[in-house]
Amino acid sequence: MVDDLYQELILDHSKRPRNCHPMEGANRKAEGYNPLCGDKLKLYLKVEDGVVRDASFEGSGCAISTASASLMTESLKGKTREEAIKLLDKFHDLLTTDTPAAKDLGKLVVFCGVRDYPARVKCATLAWHTLRSALEGVDTPVTTE
Ligand code: ZN
Repeated sequence: MVDDLYQELILDHSKRPRNCHPMEGANRKAEGYNPLCGDKLKLYLKVEDGVVRDASFEGSGCAISTASASLMTESLKGKTREEAIKLLDKFHDLLTTDTPAAKDLGKLVVFCGVRDYPARVKCATLAWHTLRSALEGVDTPVTTE
């Protein structure tokens, strides 16, 4: 039952992705590519005073990568940079660990089923990897970690 609901939400967001358009006045941009599946993504952010005011994306990819980008951009608006990074880490945990801390993820928990399909994990995390480079891209020095 719950799985069906999750699947419906993913389908809905892949068919009618939210925030799927280029953004004028974006001050952060990053591109992501998942060669395993062929997913491509361009992410736009408007960050002011350390807060994500707006987020959008363009891309061509499978249902999972599109739905993930759509739900991600929805959940980013109004978050501080730190909150966005925290969300990113939690989302990554949700998909890669056996005992994920799924609380506070809101709708994003719909992707927990993807954990059982390792090949699709990269599809679901593509937008988030792109988010990390967009957030870290401008005023944070690159680390060698
Ligand atoms: Zn994919």
